[in-house]
Amino acid sequence: MSYKSYLEYLKQGHKINITENFTLFEIANSATAIARKIENTPNKLQTDNAVNLIKGILQPVRTFFGKAVIVECMIRNTELNKAVGGVSTSQHAKGEAADFYIKGIKLEIIVEYIRKNLLFDQLILERVGNAAWIHVSLCKIKSKNRKMVLKYDGKKYVKY
Ligand SMILES: [Zn+2]
Repeated sequence: MSYKSYLEYLKQGHKINITENFTLFEIANSATAIARKIENTPNKLQTDNAVNLIKGILQPVRTFFGKAVIVECMIRNTELNKAVGGVSTSQHAKGEAADFYIKGIKLEIIVEYIRKNLLFDQLILERVGNAAWIHVSLCKIKSKNRKMVLKYDGKKYVKY
């Protein structure tokens, strides 16, 4: 795959719905990948895991709050993961995690909703400088989900 075919994938992805409000576009979209001209087309495993995450968490959150879920990052291939300084074991590399926020809804409220109502592996309120978002992950094998709730300040993780 080339960077050019990645852009084509994003374009086509808009038209392919996974759920009512999510398309394939959300899975592969990455501002960093575009800025750095990195090909970030997901493979089959990453796509399957990301679809599972959308169905299990992102769409229920979208439906409950009735507002757009802005996904900043879902999958990261090896090259992109290196570019953002991510660890290779990151759940983004497997397609199991998403970073997102909803305009006008406090992150703490979204964390509470997910914690009380949905199955997840890790749920992390991440605040780095002025930026803040929710990192959430879900494993396809249900028993693997640890239901861990954490906070991250750019340096360390602490219990929520
Ligand atoms: Zn993340």
